[in-house]
Amino acid sequence: MTEEISVTFSELLLAPAIHKVINEVGYETPSPIQARSIPPLLEGRDLLGQAQTGTGKTAAFALPLLSLIDLKLKSPQILVLTPTRELALQVAEAMSTYARHLKGFQVLPIYGGQSMSQQLRQLHRGVQAVVGTPGRIQDHLRRGTLKLDQLRCVVLDEADEMLRMGFVDEVEQILKHTPPGRQMALFSATMPREVLQVARRHLQNPVEIQIKTKTSTVDTISQRYWQVKGMHKLDALTRILEAEDIEGMLVFVRTKTATVELSEKLESRGFSCAPLNGDMTQPMREKTVDRLKAGTLDIVVATDVAARGLDVKRISHVVNYDIPYDTESYVHRIGRTGRAGREGQAILFVAPRERRMLAAIERATRQPIKAMSLPSRKDISNRRVDQFKEQISEAMESQDLEFFEEFIDSYQHEHDVGFRRIAATLSYLMQKDKPLQPEGGEIEEVVEEREERQPRRNQDRNDQNQHLSSYRIEVGRTHGVEPKHIVGSITNEANLRSRDIGQIKINNDHSIVDLPEAMPPEVFRHLQKVWVCGQQLQISPAGESRNARPGKPPAFGKGGENRRFKPGGKKPPRSRRGPQ
Ligand code: AMP
Repeated sequence: MTEEISVTFSELLLAPAIHKVINEVGYETPSPIQARSIPPLLEGRDLLGQAQTGTGKTAAFALPLLSLIDLKLKSPQILVLTPTRELALQVAEAMSTYARHLKGFQVLPIYGGQSMSQQLRQLHRGVQAVVGTPGRIQDHLRRGTLKLDQLRCVVLDEADEMLRMGFVDEVEQILKHTPPGRQMALFSATMPREVLQVARRHLQNPVEIQIKTKTSTVDTISQRYWQVKGMHKLDALTRILEAEDIEGMLVFVRTKTATVELSEKLESRGFSCAPLNGDMTQPMREKTVDRLKAGTLDIVVATDVAARGLDVKRISHVVNYDIPYDTESYVHRIGRTGRAGREGQAILFVAPRERRMLAAIERATRQPIKAMSLPSRKDISNRRVDQFKEQISEAMESQDLEFFEEFIDSYQHEHDVGFRRIAATLSYLMQKDKPLQPEGGEIEEVVEEREERQPRRNQDRNDQNQHLSSYRIEVGRTHGVEPKHIVGSITNEANLRSRDIGQIKINNDHSIVDLPEAMPPEVFRHLQKVWVCGQQLQISPAGESRNARPGKPPAFGKGGENRRFKPGGKKPPRSRRGPQ
């Protein structure tokens, strides 16, 4: 069970530079696969791990292997093989983040379809880690442009996928090029015969790890999922909060930082909300839970660890804002509702690339999770109307209204209008802050992801009350970029809607794109790392120097723009700039 894994990151004895990043990115506790993989990998043992995407398996191998890297040696010490180019980029990007404080560390993603000369240049300069697809890696080995004689460890990531895609010969050939004593880790979501054969042939006395999937859920909990699409998760959650009968809600996110950020955003939208995470002292945590129990607080945004064992009958809803690492965490999370025989609602947000985890959860719990659509504007309107009616009836019964009745009589007398009109006017005044018929600006419609890109007119901008700022991104005409690539990647990766994006001007080596001024810092940070046409965007406020320090977003918000984003900082390390 998830509860059994109580090891902390400090106990895992990772290199201090790696440990520092874990704190910075806000990981609170190792995921089950991390807790079990990191110690043997640090000891140099081979490993056979059954785990899927979303379990934190990238960090499970990257953190220990990076802890052991020799920075003085400028040749490949880690080789990660992945089935797809997307995964190669994702893993390379994650490694580059985790290695942020390893001075001089370089990781190179290598995949087909990318210019060979770029790869050669980077290899020539020297890299310590290579992440790539088997075909292109084998190409380099054949040409002698990639040397693996100093390799310490090879990782096969998503081995089942890799073999399913017909890469078995390439994988075998590549493994032949690796030195005899090297370490090897093989991760696979499933363990078909072919994978086990490769494992048997190449792993030496491996530690075997399986993230158990046998679990059960309570049947008083109704489970639904929302496919993240066309709308930010925060807006989706707000809608759900408005439209459902909610007594208490527990929202799960992955990091400590996210508990605070999301909770602040919900508070600013008028919900009574507080974070719950491992950084808080025990008395602080208890106070938050007590407030939730007592009903002075309705929403708690928590990490898995902080919410462990939480038993509050009032929790009618559990929202998996970030998908859990494994099916057991899912079962544990949703078990926080439906307590004491009550009905509970579990809602899971699933991004397109997390669909495999959804399938795994359904398989493991042997229960289908129903797709849900978000409440429409009409639903919200109906709901507000019902609530308003209830409010009227309640006040009518409980309050002494004599003074007000006389007031209405006198108004009617003086102005000679009907009671209906007076009541309508008063209703209008009452609901102004939270309209019974919400407008588009207040409640966004769900838009399809593939919206047509239209040049933005100023008129549109005003309609949305959205202030846009110009940002520079490091991809341009010479990289073959078109506006649709930029819109596609920004909407996919940053969860912005295509209508949030203003004009796009494509120059030779960079482009200028207009994006919301109030873009949250985490979105900005994420956008720095997004790849478009083989280039990392490295977004920066337009007009600022390209040498600004990477990873530090400007202080967004009123008047704060650009102030912290001073030119003249350190040059980003080459690995973060991607293939040249
Ligand atoms: P992966 O299974 O490697 O694709 O990782 C899935 C996601 O989980 C990534 O976005 C990671 O940043 C995140 N992640 C990995 N380990 C942790 C952790 N210990 N705490 C919180 N988030 C994590």
